[in-house]
Amino acid sequence: MDKKNQHKPATVCVQGGWQPENGGPRVLPIIQSTTFKYDTSEEMAMLFDLEKDGYFYTRLQNPTNDCVAAKIAELEGGVGAVLTSSGQAANLFAILNICGAGDHFIASTEIYGGTYNLFAVTLRKLGIECSFIDENASDEEIQAAIRPNTKAIFGETISNPGCAVFDIERFARIAHRNGIPLIVDNTFATPVNCRPFEWGADIVTHSTTKYMDGHATQVGGAVVDSGNFDWKASAEKFPGLTTPDASYHGLVYADAFGRKAYITKIVSQLMRDLGATPSPMNSFLLNLGLETLHLRVQRHCENAMKVARFLHDDPRVSWVHYCGLEDDRNYALGQKYLPGGSCGVMSFGLKGDRDTAISFMDSLKFIAIATHVADIRSCVLHPASHTHRQLSDEQLREAGIAPDLIRLSVGIEDVDDIIADITQALDKTFGK
Ligand code: PLP
Repeated sequence: MDKKNQHKPATVCVQGGWQPENGGPRVLPIIQSTTFKYDTSEEMAMLFDLEKDGYFYTRLQNPTNDCVAAKIAELEGGVGAVLTSSGQAANLFAILNICGAGDHFIASTEIYGGTYNLFAVTLRKLGIECSFIDENASDEEIQAAIRPNTKAIFGETISNPGCAVFDIERFARIAHRNGIPLIVDNTFATPVNCRPFEWGADIVTHSTTKYMDGHATQVGGAVVDSGNFDWKASAEKFPGLTTPDASYHGLVYADAFGRKAYITKIVSQLMRDLGATPSPMNSFLLNLGLETLHLRVQRHCENAMKVARFLHDDPRVSWVHYCGLEDDRNYALGQKYLPGGSCGVMSFGLKGDRDTAISFMDSLKFIAIATHVADIRSCVLHPASHTHRQLSDEQLREAGIAPDLIRLSVGIEDVDDIIADITQALDKTFGK
């Protein structure tokens, strides 16, 4: 471990990534350039052959993007990271990097609707099959879902929008017993509240659009590699990492890059071919967000805990899912994986029907109806009629989403004002 990695998260948020040289700019520069110039063609050729580190075209790598990726890798405790142009691209790349046509992987049913669509519909069209499994399934049931062609298990630390907590250690144990990696989407928890690698996860993904940016200014994603998974020990399952890559003169990633094999392959193959690269300007904005992540997450959690208790105690509210509540179904898992706080997002239902939920949301004043979560401004969404409207009732239930579920993302405004806005909307909906 080098000296940098001994810093605490707050220091990494502020100081990680960009390391200015003497007389260099204090703030991360935006290198808004598609190309990089070289004096000899030999140097350029070495870059193309992965024989030398360096920049040649921003679709593959860019210095601004790389500095921000390095900060996220350090926050998660990984050996490397790559930024993507969205969280969707991050999850797509995390899977595509090790799965091809004819392969299979397992995902928790409690995941974001967009990820569900990607896995259930789009990847299936590419010949990659995903089985969805209840997070509370027994070890035996999970084991029974693993096939000879299964290449990974996937879950969200805190699920969107059900707010279930994923038992990372248990799923990692089962994955490793079968020679496959565990991929965890750590978007809601952020590395401030949970570092999945410490519980055995091998790959972490993020929609940086959420808390990491925190101000709703850019759509982005990240994939982080722990460097811990031994690809060569299951070489027959991962030929992309353990057999020669013809597009790089027969280079074998696991041999050439060791613990960085997985993340290097994403950059050199998937970014090269699919090009879901963020703009350096967006990475700069993301970095501004990361600089205060530790402060914002703390305030989001403090506010959310108070709002969750308020909703829990209001007789017009039929249920609340927030793992910080002592009687929540995920309280024990929350205490294990998220002892310092979970996130600002919760879900709840009101007594009444679908229309009650809609009337409540329409009555809110500054808490806006927005297709977003996890930024500084409080907002609400009704997944059954918004983000998840493509899912059938049965699929909704499987994903842990009741038709009356309201997702509330608690911001960092004064919590008294947030509760006052909710109170007046409840009074208006139910008649005081
Ligand atoms: N993962 C989670 C947990 C999400 O909540 C989202 C979006 O809401 C995504 C991935 C997709 O990210 P993006 O919207 O940045 O593509």
